[in-house]
Amino acid sequence: MKQEHLIAAVGPESLEKLIVIGGMHGNEKSGLEAIERVLGKLKDKEHLLKKRVYFLKGNLKALKNNERFVDIDLNRIWSDRYLHSHNGAYDFKEFIELQALIDDICEGAYEHCALLDLHTFSADSGIFCIPAENLKSERLARRFGIPFIEKLAKSLPETALNYYGEKGMLSLVFEGGKHNTPEATDNLERAIWLMMWYFDVISSDDFPHVKPMQRYLVDLSVDLPHRLEMVYHHKLKDYHHYRMHPGYYNFKAIAENEEVAIQNGKPVFTSMSGFMLMPLYQKKGSDGFFIVKEIKNSN
Ligand SMILES: [Zn+2]
Repeated sequence: MKQEHLIAAVGPESLEKLIVIGGMHGNEKSGLEAIERVLGKLKDKEHLLKKRVYFLKGNLKALKNNERFVDIDLNRIWSDRYLHSHNGAYDFKEFIELQALIDDICEGAYEHCALLDLHTFSADSGIFCIPAENLKSERLARRFGIPFIEKLAKSLPETALNYYGEKGMLSLVFEGGKHNTPEATDNLERAIWLMMWYFDVISSDDFPHVKPMQRYLVDLSVDLPHRLEMVYHHKLKDYHHYRMHPGYYNFKAIAENEEVAIQNGKPVFTSMSGFMLMPLYQKKGSDGFFIVKEIKNSN
């Protein structure tokens, strides 16, 4: 097993395994801080874990450079076709190493594994999670009690989330807050503990702090729509000439035909109403913004 990406493996050998990734994007340090905190608190409690948990580090070189990616976004290139041929961009190497490591961990039995991929964003507020498009991922996402976004794969097919979701793995992205803020680290720590609880790695009797964490996230999201779907993706070929207007944040209501950004000197108007998601306020990125809509009549 290649060790560079492996931060730690804890808990007993088990058929079902949980994999937690931090730093898939190199400018997002909060996931790694959250992992260190959880490991610190598990030190004398490892015997209480019921399943094996692997904590992984994402894009090593981008993390060193404190950049989202080196040549190409690591979380947009998860596809088997790149395992054997690609254009030589640096980040493919990280994808191939991570893929091999996760393959080793799961021993091909993806359906017994679960993935929690920790992220943050450049907008000011609005935490949410994104389940892979399979029932067990969607069911688990609901338990967090925060907004969750469905139908992402059409817009972003080559994410780790979708790659493993298609292989039958329970997979979830958790977006914990604004890049490198104390709140984002706190929320991603909560996400790890809750994921361990929901995936039955720990019990709430052994780790009673998980219940207040669950309540905290539910209270944080009480005024927000919960079940949403991705309806529009403003994809960027060249992020150098894109500037979002100030004041947008996750789940801000937007109107149709609203001017939200300037691209190549021209205004960008929304093509539909809905809620803003992940407006780009950072240097690098291939997504200008997304529009999500609430799914009503959920049952
Ligand atoms: Zn990210």
